[in-house]
Amino acid sequence: MGALTLSKVTKSFGKTEVIKGVDLHVGEGEFCVFVGPSGCGKSTLLRMIAGLEDVTSGTVTLDSREITDEAPAKREIAMVFQTYALYPHLTVRDNMSLALKQAGEPKAKIDQATARAAAMLALEPYLDRRPAELSGGQRQRVAIGRAIVRTPKLFLFDEPLSNLDAALRVQTRIEIARLHRELGATMVYVTHDQVEAMTLADKIVVLRAGIVEQVGSPMELYNNPANTFVAGFIGSPQ
Ligand code: ADP
Ligand code: MG
Repeated sequence: MGALTLSKVTKSFGKTEVIKGVDLHVGEGEFCVFVGPSGCGKSTLLRMIAGLEDVTSGTVTLDSREITDEAPAKREIAMVFQTYALYPHLTVRDNMSLALKQAGEPKAKIDQATARAAAMLALEPYLDRRPAELSGGQRQRVAIGRAIVRTPKLFLFDEPLSNLDAALRVQTRIEIARLHRELGATMVYVTHDQVEAMTLADKIVVLRAGIVEQVGSPMELYNNPANTFVAGFIGSPQ
């Protein structure tokens, strides 16, 4: 569950084409990392996969179901953003369970899913607090918890750690790696941090100006970068 295929995907804003024909396959359970300079189209690609942005041409397929024009709520995809976007007036518990409530799930299922996510993310002591009473790292864990409770097939992360300080970044990165192992879900993760890319990825996609420059495992890209641009991003000796 959770195999993702992009076929000839393009995106234009007005007359400017910012995604220029992306073909990509992310296998079931794979951890795929997008890297590339600011403005190369990483967030736009994620937002199209999530359905938050229309695709100009091409198709998006999840487990052999074409979802190109499907509403975001129907996609079985959860997205975690750089800014936590939690509801300030709701407790941690209610922030995490809101999507399930809105989907009309029974209370027993909501409670069970919320408890499981809280346990996985060590958030049990904080369930009755509001976001303002949490540290930045705890808030980001709540944002991840909110994604987990829906048990999506595919997780999308857009630079989820970039607002955290260095120590918390390492700790949260290790947690995300553990979650990936425990959930077995497919993950697509955007970062501009080389260490995050090299340690988390099964597969790295190097993007440049809306085009895929190279796809491969961290070691393939490190040892055989296609060009100096890729080498620069991956940190290979040049
Ligand atoms: P990244 O996440 O890699 O930094 P983005 O996907 O945010 O890049 O942006 C890719 C390009 O698309 C940039 O040139 C950006 O200015 C442009 N862009 C993104 N969103 C919009 C929008 N809503 N309207 C117009 N241009 C946009
Ligand atoms: Mg971005």
